[in-house]
Amino acid sequence: MLKMEIQSARKEELIDITDRVAQVIRDSNLKKGIALIYVPHTTCGLTINENADPDVAADILLVLRKAVPDNLPYAHLEGNSAAHVKASIVGSSLQLVVEDGELQLGRWQGIFLCEFDGPRTRQVWLQLAQGGQF
Ligand code: ZN
Repeated sequence: MLKMEIQSARKEELIDITDRVAQVIRDSNLKKGIALIYVPHTTCGLTINENADPDVAADILLVLRKAVPDNLPYAHLEGNSAAHVKASIVGSSLQLVVEDGELQLGRWQGIFLCEFDGPRTRQVWLQLAQGGQF
């Protein structure tokens, strides 16, 4: 397993980690298989979406803020329940296709670490699995 550290700078942000993940895969010499990426946290997550227009990431945060307000009568005493809920909505892992030694994504897709309770130092764990039938 490989561990990467990502430092977030704001309370909430989507951080594009596509290039870092792609470089790890290139450096691994895996030619064909699956990359699992995972965040071992309860108030941040991972998602794939458009990274060409940064307004898309901003709109995702806008909708999550609207869907999961900070001011509900939450029971969790730490005061960050909205961040926990948002992390569960986006999820904590992604599976990626590796072919010809390269991470395969759609033309407009990027991989984002979704920070919901920053700024913090976050870990992203990667595990590569060789193989594939096609
Ligand atoms: Zn908490």
